[in-house]
Amino acid sequence: MTQNIEESLPEEKRSLNFIESIIEEDLQTNKNDSRVHTRFPPEPNGYLHIGHAKSICLNFGMAEKYQGKCNLRFDDTNPEKEETEYVDSIMEDVQWLGFQWDKEPYYASDYFDQLYEWACLLIKKGLAYVDDQSQEIISQQRGTPTRPGIESPFRSRSIDENLDLFERMKNGEFPNGSHVLRAKGDITSPNMHMRDPVMYRILHAEHHRTGDTWKIYPMYDYAHGQSDYLEGITHSLCTLEFEVHRPLYDWFLDQIIETSYRPRQIEFARLNLSYTVMSKRKLLELVKNNIVNGWDDPRMPTIAGLRRRGYTPASIRAFADRIGVAKRDNVIDVGLLEFSVREDLNKITNRVMAVLEPVKLIITNYPVGKTEMVELENNPEDPQSGTRMVPFGREIFIERDDFMVDPPNKYFRLAPGKEVRLKGAYVIKCENFDVDENGVVQTIYCSYDEETKSGTGTKQPKVKGTLHWVEASQAIEAEVRLYDRLFMDEDPAGHKEQDPLEFLNPESLKILKNCKLEPALATAQQGDKFQFQRIGYFCVDKDSVKDSLVFNRTVSLKDNWAKLSAK
Ligand code: ATP
Ligand code: MG
Repeated sequence: MTQNIEESLPEEKRSLNFIESIIEEDLQTNKNDSRVHTRFPPEPNGYLHIGHAKSICLNFGMAEKYQGKCNLRFDDTNPEKEETEYVDSIMEDVQWLGFQWDKEPYYASDYFDQLYEWACLLIKKGLAYVDDQSQEIISQQRGTPTRPGIESPFRSRSIDENLDLFERMKNGEFPNGSHVLRAKGDITSPNMHMRDPVMYRILHAEHHRTGDTWKIYPMYDYAHGQSDYLEGITHSLCTLEFEVHRPLYDWFLDQIIETSYRPRQIEFARLNLSYTVMSKRKLLELVKNNIVNGWDDPRMPTIAGLRRRGYTPASIRAFADRIGVAKRDNVIDVGLLEFSVREDLNKITNRVMAVLEPVKLIITNYPVGKTEMVELENNPEDPQSGTRMVPFGREIFIERDDFMVDPPNKYFRLAPGKEVRLKGAYVIKCENFDVDENGVVQTIYCSYDEETKSGTGTKQPKVKGTLHWVEASQAIEAEVRLYDRLFMDEDPAGHKEQDPLEFLNPESLKILKNCKLEPALATAQQGDKFQFQRIGYFCVDKDSVKDSLVFNRTVSLKDNWAKLSAK
């Protein structure tokens, strides 16, 4: 993991990142009347992922920092792949992250008329032409980075013929793929993007906003720079792969616009996360093939998935802040994302006791029929959080793996003849246990000493282990879903010969039924977050119904045995 120490400093102690330096320089020279106006321009062809979150935090963050504005603009130039469902989810995700765009969302499709007019202007200037060749031939003629392209035979068409054909393309007179409008760039340019790029293609498709009005659609490269221009964007922040497109964006504006104002494009490295696939195309495949349960499956790196998994907006913003922005591509350890959510949940969640793989434990010398309430701290990290009363009784559940018939040295949990403390209650000693015909432990029998009660008892023997537990008669049952990484390979998309799907983790989801929880959790609501003591952070899933809760594991705890034993 490449992480600059400076990047973990609180914001005010950190020096400027390279984008802030550029913005501050522009402010000092009073460029654009010292306005800062950024935009986040997603294509509504999928749900947003954690990489987009980086871009959102950056674009909205710069606007906030410099009292500027940030637009949300849907780059909806590709009707075949775009849907209103995606538009809605994108708006929800941006707001959930804690950001608000300036005014109403913008759409590239709002500029279709203007872009068409500008295309006609370029034709009139002799800078664009209609090509009748197939996409395949056009690509061949374009050459390669080391071999210059050759000119299309249609390049010398007259302006009038081009205007006529382009209008007829617009009117729907031609089938898909029969004609394109191309810019007259430089077919021998070392920059492939300048070799007569396609500006418009014919698409008889239903657009999510303009319906069937248009039969031609602008290419992203033709629409993007002009959209920035039309919105008065001052700093157009995008990922590195667009650096080579910049000369083309500038070229279009220079041919069309006479005033001197131009959006300034600044490129930064995209976020890559280990053990994660980030391309929307691949994520869509996971959804379509039912490899995951929808875009918001908690194993997905989508914002919707992370939200359902129990991530907080603050943890994602802290993560974005920590990774910073750089000019060079790198891979961030997914552990850093997990660290960020753990850090936030540690501060804000109440501690509760939940036994995920229960085994019955009977305290044989505890009075039959008696239950008492013991007091437990809600959150040691938050003095305001107070305490709660939890029932304790003769029969409880503990975790199956907190008991071993034949333990190794240094096993500080329960074993025959050994003592442990039950969190907030008593010290117990294992006297006996039952097994079934397969040798699986059924019931553990213990004794307790009333004087060892936590806090108030006169005897406080030093025991090495402290276990969490749930009283049996009042326990509620729940389903708990344990998530693990979706991919087993560190760089699943980085193999030339193999599809990322070959590296799926077959154990990315483990479902535990009949988990036993403290009774107070019965009223937990969807999205509520808890620390299950000694296990991890969990939240209530949307699949929960009354009296049948489902919890998602957000992230496991770091080992905190030592800390608990000290209490
Ligand atoms: P993908 O490559 O994952 O399919 P995309 O780039 O096609 O994503 P867009 O909807 O075009 O998705 O992205 C909107 C904005 O988010 C763009 O400005 C893009 O640069 C930025 N963005 C996309 N992926 C990342 C990433 N991994 N890290 C940082 N920014 C990203
Ligand atoms: Mg894109």
